Amino acid sequence: MTDISKLEKWRSALSKCIRCGYCYDQCPIYKETGWEVDSPRGKLILLYGMLSGEIEPSDYIANKLFECFHCNRCQKACASGVPIQDVYNEARAFLIESGFDVVGTTSLTDHDVCAKCLNCVRMCEHEARTFKDGKVVTDVLKCQSCGSCFDICPECGVTIGRGFGTNPNELLDKVDAFLHDSNNPEAKAIVFSCGYSSYPGLKHAQFDDFVISKEFEILVTACSGRLKSHTVLETLERGAWGVLICCCPEDECEHGGSPRVKERMKNLTKILERIEIDPKRVQVVEVPQGNEAKFVESTDKFMEEVRALGPLAPETETAGSKK
Ligand code: SF4
Ligand code: SF4
Ligand code: SF4
Repeated sequence: MTDISKLEKWRSALSKCIRCGYCYDQCPIYKETGWEVDSPRGKLILLYGMLSGEIEPSDYIANKLFECFHCNRCQKACASGVPIQDVYNEARAFLIESGFDVVGTTSLTDHDVCAKCLNCVRMCEHEARTFKDGKVVTDVLKCQSCGSCFDICPECGVTIGRGFGTNPNELLDKVDAFLHDSNNPEAKAIVFSCGYSSYPGLKHAQFDDFVISKEFEILVTACSGRLKSHTVLETLERGAWGVLICCCPEDECEHGGSPRVKERMKNLTKILERIEIDPKRVQVVEVPQGNEAKFVESTDKFMEEVRALGPLAPETETAGSKK
C-alpha cells in the first residue's frame, strides 16, 4: 500500500466542503443512481474518511472514484470552492499506485475481438489508449470516459465498464420507457444531450421529478460524439416524432465528438430523405457550456417544428416499427 500521507495536503480542501449538496444536481452519475455515494459530495466524504483513517482504501472506493464523466460541473457548482477534480485526480493516482483494481467508467478493450486497427488509439484526444505488448490498453488515469473509442471501433471491441445510463441499450430502454408511458400521452420526442454542454438545462428539467416538458425526454450521452446513427434511427422506429441532439460548440468540445456527431447526423438525414422521412425530425444544435437559455430556446424551436410535422406515419416507420 502506498503511503496515504501524500494526500494529506488535501485535508483542508476536503474540510471546506460544507455539505451543501449544490454539486448533486450537476452530476449525471448521481442523477442516474440517486445514491449519495455516487454524488461528488459522497466521493469527497469517502476520501475524507480514508484520510482520517476511518475507512480502509479498497477496490470499492477505487471504483467509486473512477466512476465519473469528468464533466467538471461539480467543481463549478461548489459553493466552497473545493478543487474537486484536483483532489479526485491525486486520489485516483494514489489508488492505482496502491494496486487497486479499477473499472469505473473508463474504457475497456475486448482483446478477443480487437483487430488491432488502432483507430481507438488515434481517436483518443487524451492519449489514454496505447498499444502495449501486443494489446490495446487504457491508461485509466488519462481516460475521460467520453466514449469516442467505443464509438469508432469497427469490431465493437470497446466497452465502457459502467455507462450509468449512457450506453446505447440503456438509452433505448429509456426511450421506450418515456415514449410508451401510458401516463404521459404527450410524449413525442427525445433530446440526446452531451453531458458537458447542455447540462444546465438538465438541471432544471429533471431534478426531483420536476419535468420541464412532458413532450420530450432528455437523455445524457456523455460526449455527444458517442451517439450512433443506429441509436437515433431506432429512436424514431420506437415512436419518437423527432430527435434533437445537443452538443458543444466545436471550440469547446474536449473530445472531438461535436464535429463527428454533426457529420454523422448529416449523413443520416440524407438517408431519412431517401426513405421519405422529413430530415427536420433529426436536428443537431450546439449549446455552449452553461448556456441554459440556448438550451431552452433550442428545445422550444425544435418542438414547434416537430409538432407541426406530427407523428411518423406507420407506413414511413422503418423496420422494427413502433412498439
Ligand atoms: S465531474 Fe461530473 S460526473 Fe464527475 S463527479 Fe463531478 S459532476 Fe459527477
Ligand atoms: S477516447 Fe475517451 S473513453 Fe476512450 S480512452 Fe480516450 S478518453 Fe477514454
Ligand atoms: S478500434 Fe477496436 S479493433 Fe481497433 S484497435 Fe481499438 S479496440 Fe481494437
